[in-house]
Amino acid sequence: IVCFIGRSNVGKSSLIKALFSLAPDVEVRISKTPGHTKKMNFFKVGKHFTVVDMPGYGYRAPEDFADMVETYLKERSNLKRTFLLVDSVVGIQKTDNIAIEMCEEFALPYVIVLTKIDKSSKGHLLKQVLEIQKFVNTKTQGCFPQLFAVSAVTFSGIHLLRCFIANITGNLYLTN
Ligand code: GDP
Repeated sequence: IVCFIGRSNVGKSSLIKALFSLAPDVEVRISKTPGHTKKMNFFKVGKHFTVVDMPGYGYRAPEDFADMVETYLKERSNLKRTFLLVDSVVGIQKTDNIAIEMCEEFALPYVIVLTKIDKSSKGHLLKQVLEIQKFVNTKTQGCFPQLFAVSAVTFSGIHLLRCFIANITGNLYLTN
């Protein structure tokens, strides 16, 4: 099992769709309204592998998020990796820090994914990457040291992330 968390509107459903739409048996819904994903969505990719789409967090979501998501994440022993999505345009926000602290506290192995990289200039993107990389290296324990930078629009970085997920879940056939 891998799961995806991030602020509402960070591009979570778009990314999940970009990553898994080639795989059989996957139906990915994309929410029209920001913050629409209120409950956890589970879907199977192939036979052995489940993706969990966590509700987005945002202005009012933290309490719901805490109740539902924390409980889930804490108890899930077969959870291979948590992907924490950060919007490359705005960088890490306060609410992201809450999610980061949660991952650290529960000692979850997690990976930060920068989304919507087609929206920012190379310079801005580089600045965000360096800042977040520094944060990860100095302030976190459980975070994978390498960031993934992706765009669901241009598909930049999608293949690499797909390979990474296939690798950690032992589903290498997913990469074709
Ligand atoms: P969610 O609330 O996190 O599931 O976010 P969505 O996937 O619904 O995306 C929120 C908005 O961001 C939508 O208007 C998407 O079209 C847009 N979006 C998502 N991914 C990208 C991306 O990689 N590039 C650009 N330019 N827009 C994106």
